Amino acid sequence: MLKQYFENLYTGSQPEFFKRASLAMDQEEKLFVVTANPETMMIGVQDQDLDAVLCKPSTVIVPDGIGVVKGAQSLGIETQGRVTGVELAAHLIRHAGETNRSIYLYGAKEEVLQALVSRIQREHPGAVIAGCRNGYGQDDDEVFEEILRLKPDVILVALGIPRQELLIDRWLPRFSKGIFVGVGGSFDVLSGSKKRAPQFFVRCNLEWLYRIMKEPKRFGRFYRSNLRFFREVKQLKRLGR
Ligand code: UDP
Repeated sequence: MLKQYFENLYTGSQPEFFKRASLAMDQEEKLFVVTANPETMMIGVQDQDLDAVLCKPSTVIVPDGIGVVKGAQSLGIETQGRVTGVELAAHLIRHAGETNRSIYLYGAKEEVLQALVSRIQREHPGAVIAGCRNGYGQDDDEVFEEILRLKPDVILVALGIPRQELLIDRWLPRFSKGIFVGVGGSFDVLSGSKKRAPQFFVRCNLEWLYRIMKEPKRFGRFYRSNLRFFREVKQLKRLGR
């Protein structure tokens, strides 16, 4: 339930979270991060399986969307702003490069994936690409069998919500280490295939607007999930959270 999602929400700053993730990688811990926006939470409210994932105390939810930050604020939860999936993925790749750790990339179109692999090899030669598979026509379990065998340090899954979270959660108990993150459309941005919003939009918390302007078909989904999200937050507030 929404109330529990907020209890699992990371409330520190993005740089602090990056330090925590780096340390987890250095110490070979297991960490599962869900980068959430209002839509993620509203899918959770409707989908029993995602709800269970978001309610688990071991799941770390970070506020990817500004809506989650605003929702938390209106419930009296102080957060230090967004921790975005795309920047988290970039940070993990950078840290893996600096410390010669291995990365597995699962998801996105083949050309996007190959462009990202080339970029990582060029810009972060210290990072080891343990393996990669595009997100189309694959057997998810077969891919995770391979990931389990390779034991990479970072596992980035870019298949969209909730498929990426449900898949990670189902396989997580079989791993003893790894930083697992469901990163949505981040491979498209990090590979250079899609442009991220210009800094102005990011700084003014208007990245959502830029994405809608670029992909108007997102508007209906965005509008409905945000409307429901803020309605539910208001109700939580009325009930004294
Ligand atoms: N994707 C995929 N396989 C699929 C459907 C989607 O690999 O069957 C990828 C898609 O190419 C994109 C990512 O999943 O890179 C989802 O991007 P989107 O921006 O829709 O993610 P979200 O809005 O969920 O963050």
